[in-house]
This record gives sequence, C-alpha cells and structure tokens, in this order.
Amino acid sequence: MSTENIIDGKAFAAGLRERVGREAAQVKDAHGLTPGLAVVLVGDDPASAVYVRNKGEQTREAGMQSFEHRLSADTPEADVLALVEQLNTDDDVHGILVQLPLPDQIDEQKVLSAINPDKDVDGFHVTNVGRLWTGGDALVPCTPYGCILMLKDRLGDLSGKRAIVVGRSNIVGKPMAALLLAESCTVTIAHSRTKDLAQRCRESDIVIAAVGRPEMIKGDWIAPGATVIDVGINRVDAPEKGMKDDGTPKTKLVGDVDFSEAAEVAGAITPVPGGVGPMTIACLLRNTLVAACRQNGIEPPAI
Ligand code: NDP
Repeated sequence: MSTENIIDGKAFAAGLRERVGREAAQVKDAHGLTPGLAVVLVGDDPASAVYVRNKGEQTREAGMQSFEHRLSADTPEADVLALVEQLNTDDDVHGILVQLPLPDQIDEQKVLSAINPDKDVDGFHVTNVGRLWTGGDALVPCTPYGCILMLKDRLGDLSGKRAIVVGRSNIVGKPMAALLLAESCTVTIAHSRTKDLAQRCRESDIVIAAVGRPEMIKGDWIAPGATVIDVGINRVDAPEKGMKDDGTPKTKLVGDVDFSEAAEVAGAITPVPGGVGPMTIACLLRNTLVAACRQNGIEPPAI
C-alpha cells in the first residue's frame, strides 16, 4: 500500500501550532496582548486529566498564558458557575474551556451556556452555533475545524464537491456539515436511520466519518479517489498484540473507517491514531488567539 494518500495529522497539527505561535508573538509585539486560555477540570477522570495537561503544555509552547482550574469531583454546580462567571470577567482570560464530561450533579448545558460566547473556544454555546449557521463570526468547534483545514490543504477549493457527514452530533457532525456548506459543498448528513448508507457514501467526493463504531465504513463504500476523514476514536481488543497481566487482550485504537480497505481506493485518508485527533488542540489554540484578537478590536490572523 502506498503512503502518499495518507494525511499526516500529527505533522499538520505541529505546523498549525507553529503558525499560531508565530501569529501570537506578532500580536504580542504589535499590541502587547498575550492570549490566555482557562481550562476547568472537575473530577479526576484520568483521560481528561491527561488531555488538560497536554492543553496546558501546548498553550504555553505557543506563547500564550494557560490557567488551569482543577476542582474536586463533588464540587457543587453553583461553584462551577461562579468560577465561569469569574473567568468571564477576567481580562487576562480570552478563552474558557470546561472539560467534559462533568460529574452527574452538574448540568452540562447550564455550565456551557454560562460561558461568555466570545470566550467560548469550544464553540458549543448556542450563540456560536447560530453564528456558524448564519455565516457570522463564530468560534467554531475544534475537531470539525481541524477537518476543514486538512481538507482544504489537500483539495484546495471545496466548492461544488459532494460531501457526506456520517454522524449528526452537536460537537462533530452538525458543525462539520455547516462548515462544508459554508465552503459550498453539497452536503448530505447521515445518521443511524439513513437508508442505503453505503451507496450514499459511494456517491461522495468527501466522506467524513463521525460515528463511534469501529471500522464500520468499508473500502467498497468509498469512491475511487475520494477523500476520507475519519473522526472516530474506538478502543478495541487487539489479541495480536498479546495479553495484559490481568489475562485480557491488549487493546488498540481504530477509527470508524476500515483503514486498510479504504486506503486502497481513497485519494486521501486520515489514519487513526495520527489523523484528526492531533488537530483538536491545535485548533483550540487557534480559537484562543482569534478570540483574544476579537475581544481587543484586532483583526484576527487568517488561520
Ligand atoms: P455521538 O455518539 O454523539 O454521535 C454519533 C453519531 O453517529 C450519531 O449521530 C448517530 O446517529 C450516528 N450513528 C450511530 N450509529 C450509526 C450507524 N450504524 N449508521 C450511521 N450513523 C450512525 O458521537 P460524537 O459525534 O461525539 O463522536 C463520534 C466519534 O468521533 C467518536 O468515535 C468519538 O470518540 C470521536 N471524536 C473524536 C474527536 C477527536 O478526534 N478529537 C473529538 C470528538 C469525537 P443518531 O443521531 O441517529 O443516533
């Protein structure tokens, strides 16, 4: 199998972080402004803790300020809301990200809605959802934005292309569809009730998989030369790697696309891991820079 059609998300994300860092340095020189990102972590979920630590490190590496707020798992909702309110009014904080999921006693939607939309670097606030669909100055959810950047890098102008988004969640599928529409693609949004899904995919120049089902999309669902972006992250047993000390098989990550089959026909394809995943934090840094510029009346860089 040739590797020319594999999109290296890790390298692309590193390049994006570097560009954001350069632009942030320019903003600092020209305007004395250092963008700041506040991340709120409630509880001690190990995966979230690793993710928050990586965000902090990469924020500092890009020359921005990182503010990390770690609260215990039994923190009452009112305390989280009070912290969000404090961050909303803190002029050093330009982006606020509340790490999901939140513990059961906290209403996620209530917390996300409390974030000032201009600091909502995750792009989940309804105001940003509305701005995205109406062509306004939205802060766009990071994962779909990363997908669009990779697509434009590979394909250039996306105008007129037939794109299918498999998955309609608020955090990936729907914003992905809005972004493709904004690029003048003809967009199909598919979901668990879609009929003839394989055929719908086969008719598409661009296939975005955001389902959460390991290797569901097969090679013969992909038109020769089509571009495939696999957002899925699924942990599955990998007995071929041997057994763990507890006698259960070792595991590995796979996407929603059967990579080995699809890579034989696709014009370009993202692997899992190393495709879409690394782009998410890079786009978060980009959103923080954009938010900081807008809050200070500065034209944001076009990245
Ligand atoms: P959700 O579970 O919220 O949504 C899954 C979507 O897939 C739903 O719209 C569902 O349809 C659809 N679906 C489920 N089964 C089928 C099927 N058999 N055929 C067609 N459609 C189906 O997931 P998310 O959007 O949050 O995440 C999707 C994947 O992306 C996950 O693997 C997740 O881990 C990954 N992810 C990766 C990120 C990254 O790389 N940084 C970030 C976020 C997510 P319906 O609405 O009808 O139920």
